[in-house]
Amino acid sequence: MSYARFSHTSDIYVYCGAISWHCCGCFLQLGVTFSAEEPRSMADHVREHIDAGDLVPDGVVEALLSDADAYEAEADARALDNLTHRESEAF
Ligand SMILES: [Zn+2]
Repeated sequence: MSYARFSHTSDIYVYCGAISWHCCGCFLQLGVTFSAEEPRSMADHVREHIDAGDLVPDGVVEALLSDADAYEAEADARALDNLTHRESEAF
């Protein structure tokens, strides 16, 4: 899914790929796509665009942060699951 696409209200194109988040054709990196392994890092990256004066649609950072909460909760659940799994294998 995409959080923002290039348009007259957006200087960034940020989307979520299969396993990571991308800032496509990133102006901060002279057109080289920036990739992050989790949404919170991408939210930080989008803030850098805002600080640099780039046009960023309202709600992009918020959407990434809300996905970050969900992503981290899921990662915690997975870690717990692995732990339980490992413990049951020990017996
Ligand atoms: Zn970028």
